[in-house]
Amino acid sequence: MNAAPPARLVSVEGLHKVYTTRHGVLKALDGVSFQIAPGETLALVGESGCGKSTLASALLGFASFDAGTIAIDGDEVTARSKWTKMPPRRDVGVVFQNPQSSLDPKMKVRSIIGEPLNTVGMRGEAVTRRAGELLSQVGLGPEYLHRYPHQLSGGQMQRVAIARALALEPRLLILDEPTAALDVSVQAQILKLLKALRAKTNVSYLFITHDLGVVDYIAHRVAVMYLGRIVESGPVEEVFAHPRHPYTQALLDAVPVIDPSRRRQPAPLDGEVPSPLNRPPGCAFAPRCRRATSTCRASEPDFCEDGPQRAYLCFHPL
Ligand code: ADP
Ligand code: MG
Repeated sequence: MNAAPPARLVSVEGLHKVYTTRHGVLKALDGVSFQIAPGETLALVGESGCGKSTLASALLGFASFDAGTIAIDGDEVTARSKWTKMPPRRDVGVVFQNPQSSLDPKMKVRSIIGEPLNTVGMRGEAVTRRAGELLSQVGLGPEYLHRYPHQLSGGQMQRVAIARALALEPRLLILDEPTAALDVSVQAQILKLLKALRAKTNVSYLFITHDLGVVDYIAHRVAVMYLGRIVESGPVEEVFAHPRHPYTQALLDAVPVIDPSRRRQPAPLDGEVPSPLNRPPGCAFAPRCRRATSTCRASEPDFCEDGPQRAYLCFHPL
């Protein structure tokens, strides 16, 4: 009997995470929920400090969380699951922003890609063969097996990091600003490679970026985060064409317009993201929002559904 494949590969419900710091309790994730279908790419955008990497760590099983549920491919982890017993997730891979720090400089590429293969008992020739296959998937020849990271360009290092992340054939790949440290032309090559890999393997991506051009190129859906919450989500074309949340609109307005006949709006984002240690009452975006009223400063908005897979968190949507 064949079970139907799950329509949702990833299902995150009500995720909360606080860090207890010297300066007080910091809410890094404040009720985050989303889904990702097999083969789908969800982009996660938002300014620095809004909780994107914390969310990635929780999904990877690198960090605990305080409330909520994470289910990946039917395998569910709750905040109550015994943290120490959590196995490293084979079904989730990760690529970080900076390959210089994520690749061990003392290891040759064969050993770097071989590490995850060793964890499943693969040894010797089999590792070399599989590492060579993985390299070829990311567009590098077998001669790279015997090189050290410092002998590679930034783009080649990121290809190696992608090969390592794919070694155990994950269902979900988390890409945390994977092209932010690369030159623009190299960025484009890596994005093209990621698209091709996705088409070939049906892997899902959680693509963390602050570059809306990248979102437009690679993602099916986008979730916009602000201070530990997703404030708007939906299909990329719809959200970009008709943002409902003023913060999404502000992010879009801040993108430089290439076409000089289109006049750029005045930068509408005043001030900085508040510290999550000093979360404003009501809607956390209210202090920076031109549409904010006394309601926004006094109470927190609830999610409004706006068509299939479209939601926003705002009292006065656009
Ligand atoms: P992003 O990736 O969106 O920049 P992070 O998830 O790294 O955001 O951080 C979210 C918030 O949590 C920030 O205010 C950050 O300072 C804080 N934070 C992240 N990691 C820790 C930690 N280990 N201890 C205390 N605070 C942390
Ligand atoms: Mg980050």
